[in-house]
Amino acid sequence: MSKRAYNFCAGPAALPEAVLLRAQAELLDWHGKGLSVMEMSHRSDEYVAIAEKAEQDLRDLLAIPSNYKVLFLQGGASQQFAQIPLNLLPEGGVADYVDTGIWSRKSLEEARRFGNVNLAASGKVCNYFDIPAQSEWQLTKGAAYLHYASNETIGGVQFDWVPESAEVPLVVDMSSDILSRPIDVSRYGLIYAGAQKNIGPSGLVVVIVREDLIGHARAACPTMLDYKVAAEHASMYNTPATFSWYLSGLIFEWVKEQGGVAEMERRNRAKQELLYRFIDGSDFYSNPVAPAARSWMNIPFRLADEKLDKAFLAGAEERGLLNLKGHRSVGGMRASIYNAVGLDAVQALVTYMAEFEKERG
Ligand SMILES: *Cc1c(COP(=O)(O)O)cnc(C)c1O
Repeated sequence: MSKRAYNFCAGPAALPEAVLLRAQAELLDWHGKGLSVMEMSHRSDEYVAIAEKAEQDLRDLLAIPSNYKVLFLQGGASQQFAQIPLNLLPEGGVADYVDTGIWSRKSLEEARRFGNVNLAASGKVCNYFDIPAQSEWQLTKGAAYLHYASNETIGGVQFDWVPESAEVPLVVDMSSDILSRPIDVSRYGLIYAGAQKNIGPSGLVVVIVREDLIGHARAACPTMLDYKVAAEHASMYNTPATFSWYLSGLIFEWVKEQGGVAEMERRNRAKQELLYRFIDGSDFYSNPVAPAARSWMNIPFRLADEKLDKAFLAGAEERGLLNLKGHRSVGGMRASIYNAVGLDAVQALVTYMAEFEKERG
């Protein structure tokens, strides 16, 4: 048996061991067909069945209504920063964006290349440690859409509410918290998520889009970026990221077997509670985010003396606690505790943090 470390990486992130073992068992000879999924034609009956099952399992998990298309695309979440305005923002139109941190800012900066972006609200006023209340947002009447990021992976700031947007389609970057708890898909016009946080391997982005928002791409939109083309070809206009799609399907099956997104919510609630409670109970560790806006998935924290950061990380690594270094723009530490990171990992982390504080704090 190999020894698997506890991996707190923000992305590409930990995957469930059971899924990796299954992929390993199927790697050379998928279901007795004598070849690997990686070697199959994406047009083959076998692969089409794999792709369709993955979509159906995701539909089951999130109770996706039938008037939404599920697309398995390439280019990561970052490609969507351009693809969304190219499809949803008409020439001369306005899109509202909410800035709660690095990812939502990147998306709005990209959208500015294609049209008018109204900065509806910004967390800048509170150093991005909180989310401005919707009553303070400056929304545009008749906007093409309203965009926000439900979880800021770097800052560790997460919405625990869904913005009200009755008339204007709500567009959300859910890259780092999709499948972490139940959602009501019908509240959104479009949901997108890069796979490598909570879904599967990198190289894939999942887009869940309401049908009436498809078919309005600008004339200059590249064929490959037109949602209509992707939808009409079942995400196979060109060769899709076949292995990433397959592996994501194994993750969807795994989440279902575990008890679905309601069970993920129960586990994730317990995991974040343990870590935040420990941090808040210590004078040595701190997290600056307003309690109601704290992320369940990405938990940044600081040591009282940053000169100890190196020793903390070295000691963590010795114990098999990997990738705790914070994002270069923020410093400090960050523990990403997605679905595949168990309570045992968080317990091991808290035990180490307590020991380190006792010795060096
Ligand atoms: C990781 C991440 C992205 C970027 O994803 P890529 O697939 O690397 O383009 C965008 N938004 C959020 C919220 C993320 O966590």
